[in-house]
Amino acid sequence: MNKILQETARNLLAQTRVDVIIGYEEGYDAFHARPVFISSIADVDRLIFNQYCTNNLAVYLPIHKKLKIGIVAKGCDVASIRELIKEHQIPDENVVVIDVVCEGATERMDAKCAGCDGKGIKAVVGVDKVGDEVERFEELSAKEKEAFWDKEFARCIRCYACRQICPICYCPDCFVNRTMPKYLNEAVDNEKNKLFSMIRMMHVFGRCTDCRACSNACPVGIPLHLLTKKIAMDALELFGYVSGQEQEHPFSTFKKDELMEKGWE
Ligand code: SF4
Ligand code: SF4
Ligand code: SF4
Repeated sequence: MNKILQETARNLLAQTRVDVIIGYEEGYDAFHARPVFISSIADVDRLIFNQYCTNNLAVYLPIHKKLKIGIVAKGCDVASIRELIKEHQIPDENVVVIDVVCEGATERMDAKCAGCDGKGIKAVVGVDKVGDEVERFEELSAKEKEAFWDKEFARCIRCYACRQICPICYCPDCFVNRTMPKYLNEAVDNEKNKLFSMIRMMHVFGRCTDCRACSNACPVGIPLHLLTKKIAMDALELFGYVSGQEQEHPFSTFKKDELMEKGWE
């Protein structure tokens, strides 16, 4: 696959269809991969794709929106790219997706990939076991749920890695940094830790593609994927909405009788 990938990248650069290719290169050993920006044909041989290529590279698109970008994208990452185009964070015509067949489900045995056939843009995503975990969690009482998240967020060091790695957390003026009003103080405490993640989850509702990049990036292993899966399940149940598809955002549309139809009024 690497040869085809490198040839594709070489052609895109040679034909000046893109200014840069965002892809993966080998990390500090053959079992690790890291993101790489390639703008010279002389460097395309650094590009690789294998089961260790896990990052969602769509996170780099909003900050480079003025460039024409070729981006190596797994099937699930294509959803983030679509979401960014829908949110006008990068012009459609500036993005060339280099579609790769992913081995997450077969080689990496990643929970998020369960049931996905890995076939790039045409990937068919199957049943995800985290959904069952969320349903089991919902059977707990409010007190038990609170105790669970209290214990988890007590470990949060408010490093904001979850926000930084998220393709759709691109706000230049994030609420975290605001001083008027000031939502968070500098000291790390459980209430503020929870507040940060709850507000972030509200902001990404209907936009989060459940890519799990935030969960994977959390240095203390807080299971953020339970929250991202929950909001994805709610978006589907409440609005029939799946992020990253060709649908209008539930929060950017309003149907006059919707509240009554859903029995919310
Ligand atoms: S990545 Fe984890 S530790 Fe860091 S702010 Fe997010 S939840 Fe907290
Ligand atoms: S799973 Fe996390 S990183 Fe991925 S889109 Fe949702 S909030 Fe962002
Ligand atoms: S947490 Fe909210 S305000 Fe901050 S970058 Fe994400 S979406 Fe924007």
